[in-house]
Amino acid sequence: MIEVADGVLVAIHPFCTTTTTVVVGADGTECLVVDPAVTAAEIDALAGELARRGLVVTGAFSTHPHWDHLLWRPALGEAPRWATATGAQRALAVVDDNARKAREALDGVDVSGMARVDALPQAVEVLPWEGRSCRVLEHAAHAQGHAALLLPDVGVLVAGDMLSDVEIPLLDLEARRPWDDYAEALDLFAQVALSVDVVVPGHGSVGDRAELVRRITADRNYLASLLLDDEQDDPRLAGAAEWLLTEHADARRRVRGDVAR
Ligand SMILES: [Zn+2]
Repeated sequence: MIEVADGVLVAIHPFCTTTTTVVVGADGTECLVVDPAVTAAEIDALAGELARRGLVVTGAFSTHPHWDHLLWRPALGEAPRWATATGAQRALAVVDDNARKAREALDGVDVSGMARVDALPQAVEVLPWEGRSCRVLEHAAHAQGHAALLLPDVGVLVAGDMLSDVEIPLLDLEARRPWDDYAEALDLFAQVALSVDVVVPGHGSVGDRAELVRRITADRNYLASLLLDDEQDDPRLAGAAEWLLTEHADARRRVRGDVAR
């Protein structure tokens, strides 16, 4: 794990450049685990590393109800794993689907903790974790009930599946207005950009404030390009995996269909 800011540790895993974020509490003895990933062995190793550092997991957070953000292992203990009210409801509704997707994605994943979510109150603004102040920035882009965490004391934005340097924006095509939802979430991040020193995406590399602004711009450009007749040349699509190209084609078809209506 690398320390990206005072008391904020990030591990990056080989599968889809997935990140795990650990927020150490102000007293240095407890921690909050955000989206532990990915295989059982990796999460057990994380638990071992936290124990070695003398940290007890007293809280956890799932940024959104996709399988790779709902993983858990007994080694992490029994702390509450919070999600937004909408996110928790959705996680419980798609437990079996998420377990199937996880098994199909890669070997060695423990799917037993997918329903282990504690719903936060509607419109919650601060995580009920005693360790340190964590603002909850809820939006509807990419998945229902998605939320980023903002740690105001160190200016760290834990973004979930947004603001990636390796993946294009992935719209929630089950939503009624996926393009609008995504644009609004990017506006939300722009509004807090001056408070952010470090951005941690769910997939990809950690960036500074300039990189955050660059990614917001790149993602806004991507959204705009979905409306254009000509295919754009987002560098994240060059040499991209088949599934990402499929997501892109599906988003383009959906958004252009929405425009036509
Ligand atoms: Zn996701």
